[in-house]
Amino acid sequence: MQIQKNRGEHRKLGVALVGVGEYVVDQVIPALQETQYCELKGLVSSEPEKLGPLKEQYQLPEENIYSYDRFDEISDNPGIDIVYIVLPNSMHVEYCIRAAKAGKHIICEKPMAVNRVECLDIIEAVEQAGVRFSMGYRLHFDPHHIEMMRLGQQELFGPVKRMILHNSMDIKDSSPWRLDKKLSGGGPLMNNGVYCVQAAIYLSGQFPTAVEARFAPITDRKRFKEVEEGIEWTFYFDNGLEAHCETSYTKDQNLMRVEAERGWFELSPAFAYDGLKGKTSEGEISFEPVNQQATQMDDFALCILTDRETRVPPEMGLRDVVIMEAIYRAAKTGERIKLELQQYATSPEY
Ligand code: NAD
Repeated sequence: MQIQKNRGEHRKLGVALVGVGEYVVDQVIPALQETQYCELKGLVSSEPEKLGPLKEQYQLPEENIYSYDRFDEISDNPGIDIVYIVLPNSMHVEYCIRAAKAGKHIICEKPMAVNRVECLDIIEAVEQAGVRFSMGYRLHFDPHHIEMMRLGQQELFGPVKRMILHNSMDIKDSSPWRLDKKLSGGGPLMNNGVYCVQAAIYLSGQFPTAVEARFAPITDRKRFKEVEEGIEWTFYFDNGLEAHCETSYTKDQNLMRVEAERGWFELSPAFAYDGLKGKTSEGEISFEPVNQQATQMDDFALCILTDRETRVPPEMGLRDVVIMEAIYRAAKTGERIKLELQQYATSPEY
């Protein structure tokens, strides 16, 4: 593999993280200690009590620490190549556009934004600035998921007939912004259900053509005033395949099961950061564990360094938001909603 020199020298690409919440502190920063092609170089937040200890622990220079107000000055920092947006969902659009205008490559956490118009605004900003953009879809880089894609798409157990995709977590009282529609854009569908949306496509290698959905009954009216507590939906595919999906904020579920003509295969847990377990009708499957986030970030750094496309492009983030809008519409109206996804220029193989 020929790796292009970056700005005339070989060095790891510098990553600045925007937001210093749970995902950054517990997953992304530790992953950046394992990456080969990129490294932690900066932090963006207006929470000095969190920034101080992180700055010290990871020996980050003061000039690489930005408040939200000063974020645009990052354009003048040659040590930072990639900005990784890890903020509440409704803030993604603003920070992606500001990062693009600052001339930085972008990784954006899921969901890309809270509606399709915001996704289109991000795509326009990225194209105008000529920077690269990757969704933070970590599971595309986990060997268990890559194997599930192979089994499904290559029909190694025959054509896929039915999928069961459940991804729920009991969020208890954590993360108040997740229950605030203005910040989250929606409930568990936007947060966890997006993984089921993704899996339905990459396990089958096909786009669903219609969806039906219904909201789960609300058991906690105090917490679920603005966003759904749970939602179930069924994707219909043209060849008769169906994917039955569920996500909830008051259940614990973590299953990906695929039933095909001559057997079945599944992951349980399926969507976690680690500890994934694979089984098929012919026995267990296992892989050396990888750090999903490190592999994901290294892949994007290599896309930049070797000038190749990412397999989790902005069009995929847009596509998934369009699908989630249709799921909400189906649940609200009780109707079967048609999906026309070919226009989103992504391959169903990823
Ligand atoms: P969090 O609540 O732990 O952190 C949010 C960060 O945003 C904090 O630094 C907080 O201070 C900052 N922030 C700025 N303005 C805020 C405001 N008005 N309200 C609340 N916080 C504000 O959240 P998190 O779990 O780290 O999630 C952040 C993003 O990462 C979300 O988009 C989420 O979907 C995504 N995420 C992805 C994964 C994954 O597996 N890929 C896992 C967890 C979270």
